[in-house]
Amino acid sequence: MLWQYAHVSLLITNIGELVTNAPRDAVSVSSPGPFEAIADAAIVLDAGLVAWSGPAAEAPAADEVVDAAGRAVLPGFVDSHAHLVFAGERGAEFAARMAGLPYSAGGIRSTVAATRAASDDVLRSNLARLAGEMLAQGTTTFECKSGYGLTVADEARSVTLAGEVTPEVTYLGAHVVPAEFDGDVARYVDLVCGEMLAACAPSAKWVDVFCEDGAFGADEARAVLAAGEAAGLQPRIHANQLGPGPGVQVAVEAGAASADHCTFLSDTDVDALAASDGTVATLLPGVEFSTRSPYPDAQRLLSAGVTVAIASDCNPGSCFTSSMPLCVALAVREMRMTTAEAVWAATAGGARALRRTDVGHLGTGARGDLIMLDAPSHAYLAYRPGVPLVTGVWRSGERVA
Ligand SMILES: [Zn+2]
Repeated sequence: MLWQYAHVSLLITNIGELVTNAPRDAVSVSSPGPFEAIADAAIVLDAGLVAWSGPAAEAPAADEVVDAAGRAVLPGFVDSHAHLVFAGERGAEFAARMAGLPYSAGGIRSTVAATRAASDDVLRSNLARLAGEMLAQGTTTFECKSGYGLTVADEARSVTLAGEVTPEVTYLGAHVVPAEFDGDVARYVDLVCGEMLAACAPSAKWVDVFCEDGAFGADEARAVLAAGEAAGLQPRIHANQLGPGPGVQVAVEAGAASADHCTFLSDTDVDALAASDGTVATLLPGVEFSTRSPYPDAQRLLSAGVTVAIASDCNPGSCFTSSMPLCVALAVREMRMTTAEAVWAATAGGARALRRTDVGHLGTGARGDLIMLDAPSHAYLAYRPGVPLVTGVWRSGERVA
């Protein structure tokens, strides 16, 4: 052995269905393409990247070989919307909601109180547990928002802790107006755009705002996104979750990477997304499931030409699932997506929503992030809902679960 750490290439062969989201026979692939799958396939990972994919009969040799025994292999899920830095839980609120009480944005405040009171170690261990859950269920890239601190110090520590588990860190100081501001939205927005932003921007990539009745209006949302951009952050937004509103229009005007929720859209909103410069509509079916609310119609967006992602929105209030397989099943069953559309939205769609080109596909040159299902095709994620089908996870070419 010349070098102890010399890398080894890995061939996974005898794959029943390999979902690549990449054109066949391309020498190198620079970003996710449309849904694409190869039957009786193989893939080679080398130096953390996809080095080759194609029919198993044509596979090159590699240092190590894994026999998939006819199972399906997919790109790892890209979960582009999650709120994982928090303490406490709201199981009783969920039970009350299922007994008939409505969901409102104000429930966030109980998590804010618990988060502020928690030590760094409590927040860190909660974050590690949720990140581990995600990985075991096939999520190899995820976004993580602040937004349960809502003071300069607590938001700054939230983005710092998030940065320990993902590079996709979002500053969401504008999640809800904290109780101590007593409804003075303007004064709180000044803090979010000023001292709090200055403390958080060095540790974040994205700026987000909850644009909704009971949270922040259009002008406040514009101010938060503009201030974030001036500090070097890229915009994304919570829009049109609880009712019709200006959020989607604000997102498109701002050139946001994503407008998230999109549950209540006008035809004008759909047209704006379709004509936008890369603003993805990120649908969060776990939220409608967990709040017993009407689902958005994904086909309306897809047939208009809008790029659609699906994500978990894992958070302690409106949706406490970390499972992208569940979200795929809900998107198919409840939002009228085909199984291919839902899997694309959970992989390549999430990558688009994070403006990532290296994940969400398995074209040559992509990051070696993939999952193996104990099933012959991607359709089983919806066909067998609730069954833990993810049987292997590779991240950057290394088996991690
Ligand atoms: Zn959210």
